[in-house]
Amino acid sequence: MITVDVFFSHQDPASPVSHVIADRNMSEHQMWLTLIDDDTHDADSLIVELMRLTGMNRTEVNNGLNAVAAMDKLPRLRALQEKHYPLSVAFVSRIMTAVARAEEELWEELDRRIVERLTPRVANEVMIQAHDLAGLITRWIKELDPAFGKEPAVEPGAPQEYLTVRFENGMAHIRGRINPTDGHHLAEALSKVREEGMTNVDALRAFLDSEAPVKIIQNIYTPQNGGLSWMPGVGYFDWDCQGASRVVDLDCHANAVEKGYRPSEGLANHVRARDGHCRMPGCRVPADQCQIDHIIPWGQGGLTVAWNLQCLCQHHHNMKTDGRFQADINAVGEVTWIGPMNQPMVTTPMGPLAPVMPTGTWGQTLRSRMEARFKRIRAAALEKFNEGRG
Ligand SMILES: [Zn+2]
Repeated sequence: MITVDVFFSHQDPASPVSHVIADRNMSEHQMWLTLIDDDTHDADSLIVELMRLTGMNRTEVNNGLNAVAAMDKLPRLRALQEKHYPLSVAFVSRIMTAVARAEEELWEELDRRIVERLTPRVANEVMIQAHDLAGLITRWIKELDPAFGKEPAVEPGAPQEYLTVRFENGMAHIRGRINPTDGHHLAEALSKVREEGMTNVDALRAFLDSEAPVKIIQNIYTPQNGGLSWMPGVGYFDWDCQGASRVVDLDCHANAVEKGYRPSEGLANHVRARDGHCRMPGCRVPADQCQIDHIIPWGQGGLTVAWNLQCLCQHHHNMKTDGRFQADINAVGEVTWIGPMNQPMVTTPMGPLAPVMPTGTWGQTLRSRMEARFKRIRAAALEKFNEGRG
């Protein structure tokens, strides 16, 4: 029987670099396991001693402590790490920091999902970045524990959104908490009025003085059946987004072939919601700041259809256009890149419409589907009950 190993781009058994990376991860990992074996000191003294022993800074030492904790708390992750050593200590530390925000009873399920996401689906897939994985973990925690992230109000009865201006020592202190939509609007408005060399304070002043207000259109992606909303550059959040001025269904754009070169707004938004950010390996420019690239160029017969389009930031669009990198895409949106070293790299889409998400289709987790069903059953029963009374 012939078996073909599926591996991440940094684990190619034929590449000498892969072995160096795995060896480095293994020795780094084992060093911390050995160093933090001794449990007789208080944590503060231990950190100082570890800094002395390793010559590393506090952050690096804390990463080591976190990674050792992860090996204890997340047995599946430990097994994965001990098999191939795909992860650096800093990466494992980032995972543990994200997981630690959940109730301990959820850790087993999170461990399972993390390992699933850290298992390559196609050869040469570029492994998810620690930052993106931490974002997914936060989303999973919110799915599994609806109470998560609902912070108690600052003071009893205080509104969830607030903006205060306090004057003290000749300065005005502005402090606020606003929903992600408005926060994104504000940040974007400031970025539009900010010129070279301006501080945020200058930009805010210019924005407030401006007679012509900046108009910003913000796309928010919300599943039809309820669940977390998603915004490019912000990620998943559970703020109520009912105030949309326009609602567009994006599902109909999955296979529609359009006639023109320029994709319609709906198709462009579909591609942005699938990709999440720029598709070049390692790039995280948010999709709404990307251009929509025809993977097979329009001039060479490439169609204007979701499976021939991808999000690329200006810089990486240029690198593709000038021929330094070539791209190919398959039906589930996986893009294979070939660069100057002639080795393939595969990036998977990271947005909420990505067809391959570890926890099922966007917005259709079993939980949200069952909850929606129970709500309908209950509403129907109530209606019947009220009819009977009337
Ligand atoms: Zn890019």
